[in-house]
Amino acid sequence: MKILFVSSEVVPFAKTGGLADVAGALPKALKELGHDIRLFMPRYKKIEAANFGLKKVSEEIWEGKIPGSDVVIYFYENEKYFGGREELYQVKGVDYEDNLERFAAFCQATLRLPKALNWTPEIIHCNDWQSALIAAYVKLGSEPIYSRIGVVYSIHNMGYLGLFPKEKMPATGLGWDQFSTDKLEFWGKIALSKAGFIYADVINTVSQTYAKEIQTEEYGHGLDGLIRHRSRDVYGIVNGLDYDVWNPATDKNIPQRYSTISLLGKAANKAALQKQNNLPQKKETPVIGMITRLADQKGLDILAGALDEIMKLKCQFIVLGTGDPQYHELLTRAKQKYPDYIGANLKFDAMQAQLIYAGSDMFLMPSRYEPCGLGQLISFKYGTIPIVRKTGGLADTVHNFISKTGEGDGFVFQEYSSAALLDAVKRAMAAYKKKTLWKKLVEKVMDYDYSWGTSAKHYQELYARARK
Ligand code: ADP
Repeated sequence: MKILFVSSEVVPFAKTGGLADVAGALPKALKELGHDIRLFMPRYKKIEAANFGLKKVSEEIWEGKIPGSDVVIYFYENEKYFGGREELYQVKGVDYEDNLERFAAFCQATLRLPKALNWTPEIIHCNDWQSALIAAYVKLGSEPIYSRIGVVYSIHNMGYLGLFPKEKMPATGLGWDQFSTDKLEFWGKIALSKAGFIYADVINTVSQTYAKEIQTEEYGHGLDGLIRHRSRDVYGIVNGLDYDVWNPATDKNIPQRYSTISLLGKAANKAALQKQNNLPQKKETPVIGMITRLADQKGLDILAGALDEIMKLKCQFIVLGTGDPQYHELLTRAKQKYPDYIGANLKFDAMQAQLIYAGSDMFLMPSRYEPCGLGQLISFKYGTIPIVRKTGGLADTVHNFISKTGEGDGFVFQEYSSAALLDAVKRAMAAYKKKTLWKKLVEKVMDYDYSWGTSAKHYQELYARARK
């Protein structure tokens, strides 16, 4: 199948979250299944042609490959909207004022690709609001080739609907007839995401539980009605992991590589992690890691309420994250209060992330909602046991551990509260003390296979459906 995968971020070129991981890995797995899959993304300032060996195809298109693969990726050149921007969407928490114009331009450029490349996809796979307009362009447009293109719209996070003021409607390139509640309007604003939900042939999200959740009021962010209306076309496919990147046996970014054959390397990484965070290098002290965007979604409020109690358990807590200033403050204060127990790294740092996954004993994800979550899957591979709230992809992939039977692979809590979180942390601490049991658990999760192969086959079926 000829597939065009459109994303505003792709690892290793640009990343703010899980979408970039998916976009950098799923296409490789689909290529291995024999598909002619190519990607399209904007060329941001940091994507220098020389660094990635890009070559110019036309005024507005560059061509390259996803490193370490044969997968072709095209970049949209636009100095005003992308080439001249330091960041992807926002600076210091403030969105670029012209994000609608920027991504509408990107979507329109997508539709010029087939002519420019003399290559027409059978499937266009759009991801999140940044590429949602493509679905409307294809389904409302009059070009004959459009009628043969199946459109898939994947939503990686319902919390980001792509909301913009009504006045910007003309910049979408669509008529005012599209500004109504059954089209792109959302409480007086434009919701670009609705273009995907309404016009795509197939809608998909990144876990089965989340696919159900977004059809409920609690998780639907106001679009649950629309999604219920399309429930026959809604699917959930859990993300895989790129084990070329995430593998403690080959990871060059950690001081010591390790595998289930010997976990000594993991202990060495723990010591290195403790040292890096100026914490006492004690082998017996359990280390809880957390790597996250500092956003409301991620459960930082219930963590705040539980932190003093968690500290009483004499464990170390090492966080890496950036985002909402209120959480920067929270964690800075926590570090001041517990300098020997907390490591607060308030930045985005891919290298340091690998060390936290490798050196921690447990990994905390107390999310309010979590479409799929990659942290828990990465943690499995690194033998780091997840402590998670039972929601979305976390519910699908982490099962509560029962000491008596050895069943399960993490510590799961349901209620969104500090008390429930604390209880799960306590259960984790108790299990950690039982050395043999814990070692078995670590070895078990390290053997899990969440590679993209299986998920890619599901996407293949999804594409077939979208073409019908
Ligand atoms: P989301 O997409 O909602 O941010 P996911 O768990 O799906 O959450 O994916 C987050 C990804 O981003 C993971 O690979 C995680 O390791 C990475 N990540 C998040 N914050 C940081 C950070 N501050 N530094 C490095 N990596 C980060």
